[in-house]
Amino acid sequence: PAWEKRVRSSARIRSRNGISVLVTGAAGFVGTHVSAALKRRGDGVLGLDNFNDYYDPSLKRARQAFLERSGVFIVEGDINDSALLRKLFEVVAFTHVMHLAAQAGVRYAMENPGSYVHSNIAGFVSLLEICKSANPQPAIVWASSSSVYGLNTKVPFSEKDRTDQPASLYAATKKAGEEIAHTYNHIYGLSLTGLRFFTVYGPWGRPDMAYFFFTRDILKGKSIPIFEAANHGTVARDFTYIDDIVKGCLGALDTAEKSTGSGGKKKGPAQLRVYNLGNTWPVPVSDLVSILERLLKVNAKRKLMKLPRNGDVPFTHANISLAQRELGYKPTICRVV
Ligand code: NAD
Repeated sequence: PAWEKRVRSSARIRSRNGISVLVTGAAGFVGTHVSAALKRRGDGVLGLDNFNDYYDPSLKRARQAFLERSGVFIVEGDINDSALLRKLFEVVAFTHVMHLAAQAGVRYAMENPGSYVHSNIAGFVSLLEICKSANPQPAIVWASSSSVYGLNTKVPFSEKDRTDQPASLYAATKKAGEEIAHTYNHIYGLSLTGLRFFTVYGPWGRPDMAYFFFTRDILKGKSIPIFEAANHGTVARDFTYIDDIVKGCLGALDTAEKSTGSGGKKKGPAQLRVYNLGNTWPVPVSDLVSILERLLKVNAKRKLMKLPRNGDVPFTHANISLAQRELGYKPTICRVV
């Protein structure tokens, strides 16, 4: 295939420090930033993305062009394509996998349940099947989500809290990913680190996220629904800036214990860890709308509504002490002024 020639003949994914990372979902919001940061510090990086049309693929193409200019090449393909994955691992001895490819978004799941099962469950298993047999086995860091806390009402959320009440199919598939990781760690000794991201925002962000469509709708003069959840007041999110998330991802890659197995044989225990990557500063959605009003210099039409059962949870709030201790994670963009 065309990409193979490109990858083989190019020095682009050759690493200066012995680290070669496969980044899945590299044309996505987080994937773009993580890939660029890895490249900047001299790691070998190869991206993989299927450029699906969950949101405007031209945004993914623009991110791809940005990465190309930074020296990161993205292979177009699906994580369910085992033959392609096998080939990639033949061409490059990846030391790490940063797995960010997923079907994101909570409401879309009501119309498209199959794509969550395809990417977040079947796709994750397909990737782990290849990793378990690779020689050497790569250490895997993957994106879980704050949504696994679901309807948990104990705040702030810490990694030991219950995660058995997912409010959306998205959350259920992210939770399933954590259980699947446990199995592959247990049987095959794969090193796996899960990162529960809390609502990430920043440049190259996803157009399906609230801060984008609120901006659009305020400018159009449309009313903005401010959801009130029973007993919790206005819905709130622990918005976390992308640069902080990237540092957390790099910290997780750097502290990931190299797994001790190879070629599908378990040789010893490897790490299985899950960390919250949040901000510890939940912002009520009504405050987010006020901030947008100030920046746009336009008054929003607000409409107070009861939180419907559409997959959204009332609030998110991270306890990040474990990531602070073990990954050196420290969010720097903490307050919205
Ligand atoms: P994104 O949709 O921008 O990026 C995901 C990328 O994966 C997309 O470019 C998509 O084309 C690709 N992809 C999807 N399915 C694929 C498949 N089967 N094969 C190959 N590529 C595929 O989303 P994002 O915001 O960058 O999220 C990255 C990860 O972080 C996801 O796992 C997401 O669930 C998780 N996460 C994100 C947030 C957030 O606020 N952005 C919060 C919690 C968790």
